[in-house]
Amino acid sequence: MDDKQQHILDSSPQYLKGIGEKRANALRGIGVHTVRDLLYYFPRRYLDRSNITPMQHIRRDQTITAVGKVISANIVKGRKTRYVLLLSDNTGFLMCVWFNRVQYWEKLFKTGETLAVSGKVTYFNGNQLIHPEFDRLTDEDGESNDEKFLHTGAIIPLYASTEALTKIGLDSRGFRRIIKNLLRTHSDSIPEILSDTLVQENHLISLQNALNNIHFPHNFSKLEAARRRLKFDELFYLQLMLAYRKRSIKALQKGIEFKVVGERTRQLVERLPFKFTDAQRKVLGEIRIDMKNPHPMYRLIQGDVGSGKTIVALVSMLMAIENGFQTALMAPTEILAEQHYLTTHHLLEDLGVNTKLLIGAQRKTAHNEILNSIQDGSCDIVIGTHALIQENVVFKNLGLIVIDEQHRFGVMQRMNLMSKGHYPDILVMTATPIPRTLSLTTYGDLDISVIDQMPAGRRPVKTHLRTADKRDKIYEYVKTQVGTGNQAYIVFPLIEESEKMDLQAATEAYERMSQTIFSQLKLALLHGRMKSEEKDDIMSRFKSRDIEILVSTTVIEVGVDIPNANLIVIENAERFGLSQLHQLRGRVGRGSEQAHCILIAKPPLTHEARSRLNALVDTNDGFKIAEYDLQLRGPGEFFGTKQHGMPELRIADPLVDKDLLLLTREKAFELVDRDPQLLDKDNKPIHDNFSKFHSDKFKLLRSG
Ligand code: ADP
Ligand code: MG
Repeated sequence: MDDKQQHILDSSPQYLKGIGEKRANALRGIGVHTVRDLLYYFPRRYLDRSNITPMQHIRRDQTITAVGKVISANIVKGRKTRYVLLLSDNTGFLMCVWFNRVQYWEKLFKTGETLAVSGKVTYFNGNQLIHPEFDRLTDEDGESNDEKFLHTGAIIPLYASTEALTKIGLDSRGFRRIIKNLLRTHSDSIPEILSDTLVQENHLISLQNALNNIHFPHNFSKLEAARRRLKFDELFYLQLMLAYRKRSIKALQKGIEFKVVGERTRQLVERLPFKFTDAQRKVLGEIRIDMKNPHPMYRLIQGDVGSGKTIVALVSMLMAIENGFQTALMAPTEILAEQHYLTTHHLLEDLGVNTKLLIGAQRKTAHNEILNSIQDGSCDIVIGTHALIQENVVFKNLGLIVIDEQHRFGVMQRMNLMSKGHYPDILVMTATPIPRTLSLTTYGDLDISVIDQMPAGRRPVKTHLRTADKRDKIYEYVKTQVGTGNQAYIVFPLIEESEKMDLQAATEAYERMSQTIFSQLKLALLHGRMKSEEKDDIMSRFKSRDIEILVSTTVIEVGVDIPNANLIVIENAERFGLSQLHQLRGRVGRGSEQAHCILIAKPPLTHEARSRLNALVDTNDGFKIAEYDLQLRGPGEFFGTKQHGMPELRIADPLVDKDLLLLTREKAFELVDRDPQLLDKDNKPIHDNFSKFHSDKFKLLRSG
């Protein structure tokens, strides 16, 4: 590829026609730094004749797009001052109304110009749109002049803009101009980034063609072809990255062969108070095969809250220890780390396994002693929070890493811990069940095991939604339940921005309740700001039933396992996300008694909050809840894409583009198997593009 061409796409758009320093700066604010970024600033939607409603046919309550000339523009004073535009398209009239900042709107529009407006129609002295979406269509260049537009049926791209950009002329129309220019002058400089083979085999159009048509489609089938091509690129390069990550870790590296399944592993299984479920047995089998294999294991265990992932991890850890290696278990919260420590210590101590807890909040001398025992190899299992990835933690021979509640950590943290051993085996666990195609994007570099079965005898938690005015009755109920030997959690939301306030609410509620309604019961308060000895003490007293009601913030959200607790009350439930509520609810229903979860919500509830809470009442199935949550929040929010170190998808949607996702995955993995260094001449465009953005992957390959 020509270096000069490459250079043009990488340079600042500042010197392009229509863009100066000011606009270049403003564009940076929306993440457009280079000419390439501008080419990939896709329209947010398109306007075409077929979805424009002539004004004479507009009816109330419809959601419409209309195009018309501004006939008049006025500020109307009244009880509520408003800015009113009257539009006409020769078939009828439509009003557009804005209530706030009338001066701003007044400056924005002039009579005589043509607008496309969209929104839901209401009726007040005529059809009107309130705060519609709008785009200016009149164009001095005449290229998208309304008359011409209405008669030729051109498809017009509409770009997202911001107020700051609009002020310097980069509204939708402004973007149309600069991008049209850019394409006119630079189309030929857009290099192909796929091999001929891939383009032909998959019936793709060229990248040049696609970028031209995504911005200025000749017709809808061209637009569709452009979208398909650009989605293909996005998904293909994502899968290629995953394929390299997987290959560089798994296939090319020599890992540890854990050959023996020793006596102690058998003893542990025998002494458990329960039998493994078939699902646990199946997953343990998959892990065993991986561990025996000379290549490093890189596996995700997915299993709903309460499905019994911890014990599967423990058995695997013991296997590593019996082969002479150390193991590490990392958990997202101190409370969870402490609990895992207690469970592990309890089950494995008399099998001669030395378990240590490493968390940030320890006293210095104790902390140092533990660090020493990790370094000299006398500690077999170290359990901790992200304190484990600190530099001063040095292992003698780390063989297996388990990461609990994986979704709380990022890829970098995972990689960091891995670097503390010599290609150790990795097991990550998550309670967030996600559809397969999605796990192929988020966890595409991992092998996946699913524990799709609950231990026998579990009864689904019964969930009830109540409004805050029923609180007294609810707490009476808690009192009688606890009176008969049950234990309960009462949870208050704690969301970071308002942490202090929430903490205060929890503390006050705790104090009030312990003096009034629950004065005869044993209550304790638990929150994240406490010293770890305090937290420790409270958790073990709750476990031994010395505490009957635990008033807590969301620190108990993940992993906490107290089977005798079978009642959980969640205050301000409307403030929690769906997955979070499911996790919280998972704290109960771990024994054989019927468990209840009471959600207290403060009216008025938004429609969304109500359907979220009702979803929880309706089902206990984590899979269904995750899917619903995904629909509500979209994949980016749901996974915290950035946190996972995944590139953001702009045009492809793994939920919708399943087929393309599977296809690109197959092609990417096949390519890495066949030509890992991308030396084939046909693959040069892929080599050049990939190494540009992912040179680190190639380095990994060469050193392997
Ligand atoms: P999670 O998958 O949410 O991490 P845990 O590993 O904490 O779940 O297990 C939940 C509870 O179920 C624990 O008390 C654990 O001892 C128990 N448990 C695990 N496996 C089984 C089983 N096969 N039969 C009965 N109880 C089990
Ligand atoms: Mg767990």
